[in-house]
Amino acid sequence: MSRFLNIVPVAEAVAIVIRFSPEPAMEKVPVESAAGRILAADITADTDIPGFDRSVVDGYAVRAADTAGAGDAIPALLHCTGRITMGRQDEKAVVGPASCAYIPTGGVLPAGADAVVMVEYTEDESDTVLVKKAVSHGENVLLHDEDFKKGEIVFFAGRQITPQDAGVLAACGCAMVTVAKKPIVGIISTGNELVPVTVVPGPGQVRDANASMLAAYLTEYGCIPRLYGIIADEREAFESVLTRALPECDVILLSGGSSKDDRDMTAAVIAAMGKVLVHGIAIAPGKPTIIGRIAEKPVFGLPGHPASAFVVLVAIVRPLLDRMLGISQPLQRTERATIAVNIPSQRGREEYVRVSLKNGVATPLFGKSGLLNTLIRSNGLIRIPAGAEGLEQGSVVEVILW
Ligand code: AMP
Ligand code: MG
Repeated sequence: MSRFLNIVPVAEAVAIVIRFSPEPAMEKVPVESAAGRILAADITADTDIPGFDRSVVDGYAVRAADTAGAGDAIPALLHCTGRITMGRQDEKAVVGPASCAYIPTGGVLPAGADAVVMVEYTEDESDTVLVKKAVSHGENVLLHDEDFKKGEIVFFAGRQITPQDAGVLAACGCAMVTVAKKPIVGIISTGNELVPVTVVPGPGQVRDANASMLAAYLTEYGCIPRLYGIIADEREAFESVLTRALPECDVILLSGGSSKDDRDMTAAVIAAMGKVLVHGIAIAPGKPTIIGRIAEKPVFGLPGHPASAFVVLVAIVRPLLDRMLGISQPLQRTERATIAVNIPSQRGREEYVRVSLKNGVATPLFGKSGLLNTLIRSNGLIRIPAGAEGLEQGSVVEVILW
């Protein structure tokens, strides 16, 4: 029996979600706290980096030609004209033929010099320096603008900032970085049987696992979860919590009550307060999923089973988050693996199978849909396209890692 008459394929559901996705909002954050955030604008270098020819070793600035043929047996003898001071451009420091100047790492290469001999390959005897190794033109020197040129795009919008990036951003003069604002996602758990984590469930009761799971995922994905607790399967409770949550959030996730049973309230309430765009997706697990909109805000009804809710979160909600964050590359990691056994699947619905991964082999975890243990025994999901009757043992698939 199916009361889901208008089941839409996953690709269509995602397209609908993307179509009504709010534009990414932006904010500025200090560069030192920008790691993990998504760049909202391209970043260009505001100066040449480096701004001068720079020694990368401690040693002597020389004309490379003067060291030709130098070795331990026959060192080149160069006249030392002085020392380069760090952090200053000394216009008077000039290295002429057969001469050299001491230069520390990071010092400005003096005019006339075109290479640096490492101090390890030299010996100094008063004003004369013995160079025991030949250097080539440009050796041990970082050339002016060799790293980045002024005006060059160093980072493109949509990139997730790494700690290394923060260093390069600082070098480019970005004290404040424009990043995507973290979407605020409201989480509402629904069900008469639910009790909070702190309560020992009585007969017929279960702890609310979804709120914590959804919140943890959203936090990791760069969003701000906002928890609204547990509500009963009653219309007034739905309406009142949604009325409170909608102005405070950018997106709302309701878990439970998304099916078509008489007790299932989500679809009716969304329809009354806004619009139901999708009710039923060709995805397993996760068919009883609702995509709706109230007051221009995306509202999802996720299935109550935690494993199903998680699959829908990854497959359907995540593309919305990507859009809202302006992510150029989805943050979800994937890994190629070979399938350990044949996996049957019903043609016509896209199936996501939880798998455990070991040494490049993905083993499906078949289990009853309400089990929690498959969530922690699995490393991710493999997708069986709607048009396939399953996947054959030995075929290579992309595992969407949790
Ligand atoms: P429903 O989608 O409301 O029909 O619920 C399906 C199953 O998921 C039922 O066994 C519920 O008790 C369970 N369930 C619903 N919400 C949660 C939740 N927040 N945490 C854990 N299990 C839940
Ligand atoms: Mg329920």
